[in-house]
Formats: sequence, C-alpha cells, structure tokens
Amino acid sequence: MNPEPRSGAKGRGFFARVLVWLAPAALAACALLTAGPRSAVDWRSLRAVALESDDWGLAGFVPSAGVWDGLRREDLSPGAFPEVYWNSTLEDSATVAELAAVLASHRGRDGLPAVLQPNYVMSALAWEDGRWQRYDLPDLPREYRRPGLWEAVAGARRLGVWYPEFHAAWHYDPAHRREATKSSAVALEAASRGIMLFPGSEAARELGPWRSTPELARELDDALVVFERTFDRRPGSLIAPDYTWNGRVERLWSSRSLNVIQAKREQRHPDLPSGAAGRVLKVLERQWVKTTRTGSTYLERNCRLEPAQSPDPEATVAACIRETARAWRRGEPAIVETHRVNFAHAETAVVALGRRALSDYLDGVGALPGAGPLFVADVEIASLARHGCSVRTDGAGVVVRNGTHARRLVAMPGAGSGPEGTKTLLILDAGRHGRWISGARNTVELAESVAP
Ligand SMILES: [Zn+2]
Repeated sequence: MNPEPRSGAKGRGFFARVLVWLAPAALAACALLTAGPRSAVDWRSLRAVALESDDWGLAGFVPSAGVWDGLRREDLSPGAFPEVYWNSTLEDSATVAELAAVLASHRGRDGLPAVLQPNYVMSALAWEDGRWQRYDLPDLPREYRRPGLWEAVAGARRLGVWYPEFHAAWHYDPAHRREATKSSAVALEAASRGIMLFPGSEAARELGPWRSTPELARELDDALVVFERTFDRRPGSLIAPDYTWNGRVERLWSSRSLNVIQAKREQRHPDLPSGAAGRVLKVLERQWVKTTRTGSTYLERNCRLEPAQSPDPEATVAACIRETARAWRRGEPAIVETHRVNFAHAETAVVALGRRALSDYLDGVGALPGAGPLFVADVEIASLARHGCSVRTDGAGVVVRNGTHARRLVAMPGAGSGPEGTKTLLILDAGRHGRWISGARNTVELAESVAP
C-alpha cells in the first residue's frame, strides 16, 4: 500500500501546477511591460535634444494686460488653472524674434542651432459685434492683432530654429464654449474683451469622449488644411490638447498619416477608470499600443522646463539639465516639455524669465561632460529610431542625419525628379549630420560640409 502523500508533497504539487500557469503569464506580462520598438540608433552616443512647446497660435487666455480690470475672474468659474495661465497671452513678433535669437545662438555639435517645435492651435472663436466669428491662422481675432507676427515666424523658420507642429483645432469644444458663454453676463463680458476662458472651460476638452467621431474627423481635416496653408507642409508630429485623447482619436490621426505622437505617458485617457486600476490599465494600454501599433512612434517627454510655474526657476533649469543627462544615460533622446506660457505672457517679467531659463538650459546641456548635444525635431527622432537616418526640410533647407555606424543612402525630398523619374540620392557617411548642400541632379552625391 502506498503511503498517503504527506500534505507538504500535496502542497508542492499544487504550487507546481500554479507555477506552470503563472510562469508563462508572468513572462508574457514582463514581455509586454518591457516591449517596445527597437531603435536603429544608440541614443546614448547621439545625445539628442528635442524641444516641444504647446499652445502657440492660441488666441488666449487673455489678449493683453489689464483685461481683467473690473471683472471678477472667479465669477467666470472656468475651472482650475495654474496661476500663471490667467495672464497667458498670444505671442507677438518680438516674442518670436527674441526667442529665435536665443535658439540661434546655441548650436549643437553638428553646427546646427537649437530648434523649437511650437505645437500650434489652428483656429479661434471670437465674440465680436454681438456674434461669434471664426478665425483660422494666420488670421487672428480683432483683440489679438499682432503686427509683424508672421514675418517674425518666417524669419525664425529661415534660421532653422522654428519647426511648427500640430496641437489642436480650437483647444476646446467649440459648442461648449458657445453655450457656456451665453449662460452668464460675466462670461459674455469676458468674451467681448477677448478673454478665452468661459464657465467650465477646463473640462471642455477638444477631444472629449462626448464629441462625435465624424465631427472630430471634420475638425481635424479642416485644421490640417489651415496648418498646411499657414506653414506650407503637413505636420509631422502632434500633441493632443490637455493631453486628452482615446483610441478612436489615435485611429483618426493614423488614418491621416499622423503617426508621431507626443507625450503618451501624460495621456488623460477618458475611457479608463480613475484610481489605481486606471493607472495600471494605462500602463498596459501604453505598452500594448507601442507593441502593436508598429506604424506609430510615441515620444515621451522626459525633461521639464516650465520655469513660469516654478517657485525656483533656477532649480527648474538645473533639474532639466540633470533630466537631459539621465535621459541620454538611459538610452533615450531628451524630450523637453516647455509650454508657450513661459515665453509669451501679459507680464513682461515672465517672458524675460522664460527666455533666460531657456538660454541657461541650452548653455547647461552644451556644458555637460562628453560630446555636445544634437538639437533635433520629433520627425528626426522617429526616422532615426526606425531607419537610422533622417531627412527633414525646414525653412533653411534640408537637414540630413545618419545616426548609425554604416553608410546610408537617402532620397532627397522634391529634388532631382528628372524627366526619367529619377531622384537625387545622397550617400551619407556613418555619423554624419548637417545641412545638405544642393548639387547636381540625377546623380549620386556625397554629403559635404557635414561634421561627424
Ligand atoms: Zn495645450
């Protein structure tokens, strides 16, 4: 007679069975949590810096200083905003020109200047003469006239320091704004002064789940037309207003070839529950889309340069420089979040502080031990990660990069399409970065005037 198995042996059998089930599940979970597209370049040695800046072109929050005089802003009950946003304003020509000068005076090790990516809001609603008026960039509401603004933007683009990208159609649900503004005398008075805030505006998010998909699709298409008309090209990268979007919005973007998405980690996902469960699901969802949506590139903001919201701007700059070095050490490009409110504000002291902070940050990353930084745009990060090389056209010409240790062949955009349908190709040596000097057509050329 076989002895009755002891309870310990029984227990071991049970645990073994559990392990058999758990181990693959744990492995699958690990694989999912650590999965992600492999990069074709080593970001540790590339030491790339991208500057992402939201809210440019937004006709708000206020047109100018003093606009709150005689108005109790708390009566407007727009929701919660950091204090500095109450006097956030639309940039003007001086803001752009002075910022461009700061960027142009800081160069990467390839000799190219720092480049800001202003993420633009394309349209505005203005309450003028007792009715709503729509304005599409480059047109601006009456209260937000900014003489010379677009000449300054064109100048900054010609310097290669201003690379516009896409943020929003309106930055709010326009129907919600129309209704909420009608609801109170103070809201109507604020609107007639050009104040963009309205009751409940903080929650009236442009890409909220209550809005219909056809409506969002129409709005996106209109906004892309405005973008292309204003900046002569399609956007290559984007960030959702208020970081709020869900899966249907990503599908919309993808159907319009908008595949470089900023700040996925900051996403406010309206389809997920709040609390710990929501946070866990958000991590899983992020990993899932990074693994399965192979046509998209998700860029995470891993450095924060928001001096206007900081009690200690110098410490903010120092922290951002440390975050940059840490991002490189982790093998990531440094992607800096820095909103427009730091650089365009009704209080001139805020503007001076923001510009100084940017300059100090750029000085600081340039002084980090080791090779100097490369200042890049999101589309370059996406292309370098995917193909090891990149070609980007900006207002100053074409920037080419090879982030690998081998020669790469790249096709030049819009150049050399001869009668035989041939294209100009460029053989780019390993580690070469720089501006393409346009040469003979229909030939294979070697890059010149680029530094390793
Ligand atoms: Zn925004």
